[in-house]
Amino acid sequence: MSVVTPMKYDEALARFEPVLGLETHIELGTASKMFCGCATGFGAEPNTQVCPVCLGLPGSLPVANRAAIEGIIKIGLALNCEIVEWCRFARKNYFYPDMPKDYQISQYDEPICVDGYLDVEVEGETYRIEIERVHMEEDTGKSLHVGGATGRIQGADHSLVDYNRAGIPLVEIVTKPIEGTGAKAPLVARAYATELRELVRALGVSDVRMEQGSMRCDVNVSLMPKGAAEWGTRTETKNVNSLRSVERAVRSEIERQAAVLDGGGSIRQETRHFHEDTGTTTSGRSKEEAQDYRYFPEPDLVPMAPSRAWVAELRASLPELPAARRARVQGEWGLSDLELRDVVNAGALDLIEDTIGAGADAGAARKWWMNELSRRATEKGVELAELPIEPAQVARVQEMVAAGELNDKLARQVFEGVLAGEGAPDEVVAARGLKVVSDDGALVAIIDQVIADNAAVADKVRGGKVAAAGALVGAVMKASRGQADAGRARELILERLGVS
Ligand SMILES: [Zn+2]
Repeated sequence: MSVVTPMKYDEALARFEPVLGLETHIELGTASKMFCGCATGFGAEPNTQVCPVCLGLPGSLPVANRAAIEGIIKIGLALNCEIVEWCRFARKNYFYPDMPKDYQISQYDEPICVDGYLDVEVEGETYRIEIERVHMEEDTGKSLHVGGATGRIQGADHSLVDYNRAGIPLVEIVTKPIEGTGAKAPLVARAYATELRELVRALGVSDVRMEQGSMRCDVNVSLMPKGAAEWGTRTETKNVNSLRSVERAVRSEIERQAAVLDGGGSIRQETRHFHEDTGTTTSGRSKEEAQDYRYFPEPDLVPMAPSRAWVAELRASLPELPAARRARVQGEWGLSDLELRDVVNAGALDLIEDTIGAGADAGAARKWWMNELSRRATEKGVELAELPIEPAQVARVQEMVAAGELNDKLARQVFEGVLAGEGAPDEVVAARGLKVVSDDGALVAIIDQVIADNAAVADKVRGGKVAAAGALVGAVMKASRGQADAGRARELILERLGVS
């Protein structure tokens, strides 16, 4: 295998036009598998969630899972697809040890959802990604290669196989070729995967956790010389399992293919593996053609013919979808496009909305999550949602701020305490003694001391330089360890100095 030095990205884009295609597999979160009653929970002991049907034992017969078909119809509707009136399952024949029947039940030329689209936004520009099909199939088991350095089959001593995943309902979403994205191709691919994940999560039909494999992207990339009429040969980078990797896989394939084409070589139609550590892909097997799978209609299952009434019922049951939700929230919270994007990118939309639901106003809820709590999440290297604090607790802190019991500085100390596991906000306030001192008696004693210690400044204020009072307020705040009510302290200072 020859190793090519990738072409610089900008040069590659100056000479070639990329065409993308994305195939995304999503495991549905149904309680049972696609064609049998086995449980589907992630992380169970190997081969404990299996039965004759999903092990492909002779004489067993599959029965389709209604909840899974509901799930795929919802996905199809949310992707603006047509839901066909009649379609069939198909047998896709291939042999891998993780496929116990030696075939996968899938769909071939009769998918259940066709001709949809998903709009995605990249740097303020909207791209319409056309969806060719959404079809229903079953997942395979998982092979584990033992004894090698990389976990891959090369160099392994032996392999183990776990069939718990075999037969879990799997939805495959296939885009039409995506043209005209130019240098933004990697960003468009990532934006599509991100939006699709949000959409499916909003539908509640899958947990879409890429790190656990319940959402996996296959990324097709080809290049054609600028101005050419015909597409180049594509490669398919399999099972890319993070959003960032989707972007990197596209970029690295563009750079690699450009170098191959530039050197007079040709691109082989093949599957490729993406390597997280280097951000590059390496060659896998040569890509099968449809005829290699010897598809034929699955004889053990009846056709699917979702009634129009059922489809209408499912359409009516769809929740608010992410794009509509973002538009609503932007209006309600009064955000600019950029502010909205920041909130979305920070993963703060749900958190802020829940904090508002618990009683905080929009401005304060956004301020705490986007500033103080985002800063702490970054410090700890975790996602915002992983911080050990609940939206209701943030709302409670804000309630105390609004009531004048805490100022912002004290509120930050309360957050610090909650995140350190010291308990709920009220417990932290009590344990740390964090209350704004607005009781005049206690404040006046501090103020008189501060005036005595800062006689020169006090004289300036008496002489009419009211702005100088700021220094005295600062000294009062310091003497009270941040617990004084600054507004009240200022009023009292001016009163004591006879200038109010
Ligand atoms: Zn089973």
